[in-house]
Amino acid sequence: MSVYKAEYIWMDGAEPTQKLRCKTKIVKKGKEPPIWGFDGSSTNQAEGHASDRVLKPVFTCPDPIRGGDDILVLCEVLNIDMTPHSTNTRAKLTAVAEKYKSHEMWYGIEQEYTFFEGIKPLGWPDNGFPAPQFGYYCGVGADEVFGRDIVEEHMQACLDAGLMFEGINAEVMPAQWEFQIGAGDPVTVSDHMWIARWLLYRIAENYGVSATLAPKPVKGDWNGAGAHTNFSTKKMRESIVACENAAKALGEEHDLHIANYGDGIEDRLTGKHETCSYKQFKYGVSNRGASVRIPWQVAVEGKGYIEDRRPCANMDPYVVTRLITNTVCSREK
Ligand code: ADP
Ligand code: MN
Ligand code: MN
Ligand code: MN
Repeated sequence: MSVYKAEYIWMDGAEPTQKLRCKTKIVKKGKEPPIWGFDGSSTNQAEGHASDRVLKPVFTCPDPIRGGDDILVLCEVLNIDMTPHSTNTRAKLTAVAEKYKSHEMWYGIEQEYTFFEGIKPLGWPDNGFPAPQFGYYCGVGADEVFGRDIVEEHMQACLDAGLMFEGINAEVMPAQWEFQIGAGDPVTVSDHMWIARWLLYRIAENYGVSATLAPKPVKGDWNGAGAHTNFSTKKMRESIVACENAAKALGEEHDLHIANYGDGIEDRLTGKHETCSYKQFKYGVSNRGASVRIPWQVAVEGKGYIEDRRPCANMDPYVVTRLITNTVCSREK
């Protein structure tokens, strides 16, 4: 065939949490995927009387599901005058990333999520609850682990797409999992995260399972789902003092960050279940009850990175990495 399939993927205008949309364009071989458009009135990005919005390709990778020459095309949403649409959080990040380029920021994000089948988490009993949390984290065996086939297929797809995919683990709540993307510059890691999320939804679709990023999918004594955001500047990779200064900088902007770290953060950051209350800011070595953790190897080696444990699973990586870059780099000497 002399054509290939390009799957255009973009973030919609859903509130309070933007979702992914996608559609396919057949493109002639040898041609780049062009600028395209869509009906913004169906995605909360336009009014019906002036509904056209523009899709601008910004990142492409092989399509691991369709294979062959087919590709995935991550897009920014623009207005018809080619200015970034108000829902285009990527455009805001690229400006900040460029401004602080000399700090050489790296990010590694841990994406937690939960599989659902209908209204309950995958593998949970129809009536009542599974045994209390203990054996599930990094567990093995059909009584403790639900959805591993999807997780394996998703991991292979991310690798085949060439994403900066680092690993997976089963989480503390049954049917909850994690994958990590990194470590790299904020724009690349965030682009890869959105593609990895799309692949997760798309692959789980084939199993009749939905993956949710809800930060507290089951109320009560069950862990929430976060997106721990690990980061370093060049200086932090050289000195623990710079790591501590970065933690202090985050403390100075705690409220701004909490307000932008994902809808429903108050339900997750309760002070229980390995979290620090959203009302408080604390940092410490090895402390999983802190807002920001300095990993023990970092304390031992006297340099490295820190982990912001506050972002929720449903956060937008373009927003979170922009805020951290701004807060930390504007104060770094
Ligand atoms: P844990 O579950 O113990 O919190 P993970 O192994 O799941 O940790 O994730 C660690 C994350 O830290 C990875 O995403 C990795 O890319 C990131 N990371 C490691 N070193 C650095 C660094 N120097 N700068 C930024 N991120 C880093
Ligand atoms: Mn982890
Ligand atoms: Mn985790
Ligand atoms: Mn973590």
